[in-house]
Amino acid sequence: MRDYVKLTERDNVAVVTHDAAKGTEIMPGLVLLDDIPQAHKFALVDIPKDGEIIRYGVVLGYALDPIKRGAWINEHMLRLPVSPSVDNMPWGTNIRKDLPVAPRKTFMGYRSADGFYAGTRNILGIQTTVQCVQGVLNVAVERIKREILPKYPNVDDVVAVNHAYGCGVAINAPFAKFPIRALRNIARHPNFGGQLMVVSLGCEKLTVDMLVDPENNTPDNVIVLQDCKGYDAMMNAILGMAEKKLQVLDKRRREELPLSELLVGMQCGGSDAFSGVSANPSAGYAADMLVQAGATVMFSEVTEVRDGVHFIAERCVSEEVRNKLADEMRWYDAYLDAGHVDRSANPAPGNKKGGLSNIVEKAMGSIAKSGTSPIVEVLSPAERPTKHGMIYAATPASDMVCGPCQLASGIGLQVFMTGRGTPYGLAAVPVIKVCSRNEMKAQWEDVIDISAGAVVTGEKTIQEVGTELFNFILDVASGTKKPYTEQYGLHNFLCIFNPAPIT
Ligand code: CA
Repeated sequence: MRDYVKLTERDNVAVVTHDAAKGTEIMPGLVLLDDIPQAHKFALVDIPKDGEIIRYGVVLGYALDPIKRGAWINEHMLRLPVSPSVDNMPWGTNIRKDLPVAPRKTFMGYRSADGFYAGTRNILGIQTTVQCVQGVLNVAVERIKREILPKYPNVDDVVAVNHAYGCGVAINAPFAKFPIRALRNIARHPNFGGQLMVVSLGCEKLTVDMLVDPENNTPDNVIVLQDCKGYDAMMNAILGMAEKKLQVLDKRRREELPLSELLVGMQCGGSDAFSGVSANPSAGYAADMLVQAGATVMFSEVTEVRDGVHFIAERCVSEEVRNKLADEMRWYDAYLDAGHVDRSANPAPGNKKGGLSNIVEKAMGSIAKSGTSPIVEVLSPAERPTKHGMIYAATPASDMVCGPCQLASGIGLQVFMTGRGTPYGLAAVPVIKVCSRNEMKAQWEDVIDISAGAVVTGEKTIQEVGTELFNFILDVASGTKKPYTEQYGLHNFLCIFNPAPIT
């Protein structure tokens, strides 16, 4: 087992793989000058004041004071560099063609009638136009699950698509297009099998015709609570429509499909300094295998790629893709600027406790989950992809907001990397948890699906864990395995990204 990880030749810091005491000779001739917590950095050389602190081969920041060889480097000791310019970024200079060959080329999924990516689960999704209907709908869904769903064994679940958007919002504000697009696209999610069911109130800003196409805005698909005479009528309307939809959904069957019909989302949260060493690179390897086999993989989280954006640009397949990437970064820079913050507002206390000194270090670990494949498309938040391959979808990094954005983009499942641990989940798609270190897996043995901890200790390779993850992704997509969050029914409220004003 190794005691420290140095990532590139250029690095002048390394991270310890376990808590290491002051006075330890961590490598021949290098004695630690401080107690170093697991995953935290120590200096490999004397670093002068204003000297570069380098990890991943990039400058994480500049030393505020001189740092001695063997000393602990924590988040209070660096000055953040200026984020890289997005103007005239070179594109297409790092297009990899020799991706790792996938051991499987097909999966068992639900083919989508509209030619979009396949579904991975068979779910009755009940859409809402406004949060006011949530109380009624939640009671109705409980009853549907108890009284009706057991009659339809081929349907996996009934999900209320509750959210906080819909009224009390500036619905005509330019940025209202983000939440509206997200809700429209979630309603079309492949796991819902084309069966549209909407519960509305009747007086909200987000009218049904803004949520669905005109041909779908019919009494067969839409219930207006204010048109129902009392509570029983509301319940009868919802349960009656649900039964009709379940009858149709129950006829859906999985079929063997090429991986070109699979869309996988990648996210991370509760990251630590090992995330970029083990979990994210393993996910990146699995992503490369998926892309090699024709699948589509999406990664996101603007503030967590911003400082490594030039590494994304050089993988863009065209000037058009590079330009969209730059535009999305500019939009987000302006969004943060309007709130008088910058990307340094991102790291959480737990990230820092896990050894991540700043957003540059977090970003370098975060983008590792995108692997090395060419970037074929860049999306605005909650847009649906049109290409196959590696896609960047520019969403917030917040787990609760990125999740619904990727769901709206149509992911069949999400792979979620964590170092500190989070029980986050989504109701409409499975979420696979991959952790960065062995202690996390030991702590949450029955929450974390796959541990990449053995990569940190040197006992497994990124290729081994990446291949294990690739196979698990296909098993989950095919419905033969369920990740823990799905087994327990853990899922979060859908925070729909709304940068427009609330009224
Ligand atoms: Ca996240």
